[in-house]
Amino acid sequence: MSSEPLLRVEDLQKSYGDETVLRGVSFDLDKRDVEVVIGPSGSGKSTMLRCVNRLTEFQGGTISLDGESVMEMDENTLRKRVGMVFQDINLFSHLTALGNVTLGLRKVRGMGDSEAESKAMNQLERVGLKAQADSYPAELSGGQKQRVGIARALAMDPELLLFDEPTSALDPELVGEVLEVMRDLAEGGMTMLVVTHEMGFARRAASSLMFLDEGRIVERGPPEQLFENPQRDRTKEFLDRLT
Ligand code: ADP
Ligand code: MG
Repeated sequence: MSSEPLLRVEDLQKSYGDETVLRGVSFDLDKRDVEVVIGPSGSGKSTMLRCVNRLTEFQGGTISLDGESVMEMDENTLRKRVGMVFQDINLFSHLTALGNVTLGLRKVRGMGDSEAESKAMNQLERVGLKAQADSYPAELSGGQKQRVGIARALAMDPELLLFDEPTSALDPELVGEVLEVMRDLAEGGMTMLVVTHEMGFARRAASSLMFLDEGRIVERGPPEQLFENPQRDRTKEFLDRLT
């Protein structure tokens, strides 16, 4: 029986040398949940995401996907099951948009060229970039590049998508198009763990909002609850400054 949450993070502890960054973080995500994570710079948001897809090791606690520990999963399997979109848009400059999306399909999924291309085109279409398939990153706007990054992550058919401040590096006028794609994904039932300070997105798309401070979850609940009736002063202060 599969009553397991899709993602379970239990008592996650992480330090870099002497510096403790995560001090016992626990939460579950069910399928189709969209969790937005906020918190001051240095509170451990990126580190938490990086632990989930094991870009970094952690010292204590467990993280499991559908009941299976990510520590015991082989890396290729984890890369397929958990996609990540970063703040820094790290596309390969010598590959077209299409080439960037097909790369993982060929390397990680072992698809042949034509299958990979048709799948990649579908993903580019999903993020509104079919017409830019043959463009190189230098010919794309920041928002378009970030959408290619999302298409690349989607192409792997991930069960969970992690976003680390996907719009923070963008010019303000380009933020909306990326958030719109993310909202579509949320509405389509994608399970998402999203670090962002875009509170409009949180209000409209999040099933839950988490406030992380100094490596701990200070408060977590439905966005309207944190916005309208925060239980902790610290949450209120932080949200007042954001909105
Ligand atoms: P946030 O994303 O909330 O801004 P981070 O997870 O990036 O926070 O960082 C949390 C803390 O961990 C910070 O004090 C940061 O300096 C430290 N840290 C992050 N990455 C590393 C690293 N690779 N090596 C050493 N310290 C790190
Ligand atoms: Mg960060």
